[in-house]
Amino acid sequence: MINLEVYRKILNSLEPYNASLVAVSKFKSKDDILELYHEGHRDFGENYVQELVQKQEELPKDIRWHFIGSLQRNKVKYIAPFIHLIHGVDSFRLYKEINKEGAKNNRVIPCLLQMHIAEEDTKSGLDERDMIEFFEYCEAQASELKNVRLKGVMGMATFTENQEKVVSEFQQLKNHFHFIKDSYFIGDKEFKTISMGMSNDYELALEHGSNMVRIGSLIFGNR
Ligand SMILES: *Cc1c(COP(=O)(O)O)cnc(C)c1O
Repeated sequence: MINLEVYRKILNSLEPYNASLVAVSKFKSKDDILELYHEGHRDFGENYVQELVQKQEELPKDIRWHFIGSLQRNKVKYIAPFIHLIHGVDSFRLYKEINKEGAKNNRVIPCLLQMHIAEEDTKSGLDERDMIEFFEYCEAQASELKNVRLKGVMGMATFTENQEKVVSEFQQLKNHFHFIKDSYFIGDKEFKTISMGMSNDYELALEHGSNMVRIGSLIFGNR
């Protein structure tokens, strides 16, 4: 069962920010996904390759699947044919692998660079030094990177009641976004996505620059 009332409330709160919603459906049934699909929703997020591949095979083909988990390089090939956006690019090696699989599938795969903004080490992502290095590699190998495309950044704030801390982490991600845009994507209208905000912090995220939120449990119930 999905909570349609909450779903509609979320959509309303996104409107003034022109932000989009990725409905995070990990561990949720195909029926739950279809229920939201029939409401007109098309963007769904999954964390696990095997689960995603199975759902993609069995559900309507116009669903836009977002991969939001941590992606192992040897599994890129399974999602490369259809994935709409990979949120968790956290190394140049992964980015190169996505490029390789994009080429095999004769497509350009959209990605977000995952930045580490939280206190917890368990949350992955690049720090500022890694980020600079990432773009050095990108510039050095630009002519080869034809089948992958960076569309923005993604991050996860610390899981805490401390709103000031969460806000400062969101601000950090927004600053990273603008730094990257001004340094490497001047005039590129496609570099525009800031994916931040989940069930417990999406309103704060919107107030601080998010234009894509990833929400699971508020819509689908606890996992
Ligand atoms: C699971 C997950 C979400 C959704 O979390 P909720 O708290 O259920 O909204 C969002 N982003 C990522 C990266 C996740 O792994």
